[in-house]
Amino acid sequence: MDFIDSHAHLDRFPDIATVISASRSSGCIAIITSGYTHEANVAAISLAQKFPNFIFPCIGIAPSVAMDLSDEEFARQFDFVKSNAHKCVAIGEIGLDFHWAKTDAQIGREYSAFSAQLDFALEKKLPLVIHSRKAENEAIDSLISASAGKVLLHYFSGTPELARKAAEAGFFFTTPPVKSNSRKRMLAEIPLDRILLESDCPYVAKTPCGAAEAASLVAEAKGISIEEALTKATENARRFFGLNL
Ligand SMILES: [Zn+2]
Repeated sequence: MDFIDSHAHLDRFPDIATVISASRSSGCIAIITSGYTHEANVAAISLAQKFPNFIFPCIGIAPSVAMDLSDEEFARQFDFVKSNAHKCVAIGEIGLDFHWAKTDAQIGREYSAFSAQLDFALEKKLPLVIHSRKAENEAIDSLISASAGKVLLHYFSGTPELARKAAEAGFFFTTPPVKSNSRKRMLAEIPLDRILLESDCPYVAKTPCGAAEAASLVAEAKGISIEEALTKATENARRFFGLNL
């Protein structure tokens, strides 16, 4: 069955051609490769050029990277994001990460990097891919107060209550193939037309095929078949990223 991997880090694969052909033969019809560092952003743009209409880039400076950048270095890396955004399906992953930020200065730099990139995406009317590890509340509040509409909460691990609040704000979610009772409760709170699948490979699943495995979590939480979960998630990803496959 066809599926879309809505969040992968393809810059991490030394032999990308093999990964792409294996993904294609297992039904993958598109992969969103996500930037996080400057190097990953550069790689995302060039991979999308090599595999047009299959790899789609999203670029941004992740909070755990931004927290240690000087203002000058952030500005330099952000310039690349701004000048390549027109080639991308979204800006991300950006957001807040309080797992890695230890000092007030780091948290401060995370917030300023997040708001600068958030404002830019809103100005360009680009969707946002959000990383919110241990900062789910703060990230959602920032997005709501900025009136962000097209938001995808990647690997969301907040409470079911918070998931409901984000769903009411119109946000989308991706689920990785990582089973837990809390993820099942959270998925139960989110409307089926807002759920996308991700591998987050190679960090979570080994390859983009992990996104297809994540469909079983949706099927279980919603009491539907895996086929229906896959079909819905594929439609949702097309709609969210505006893919014309
Ligand atoms: Zn990721």
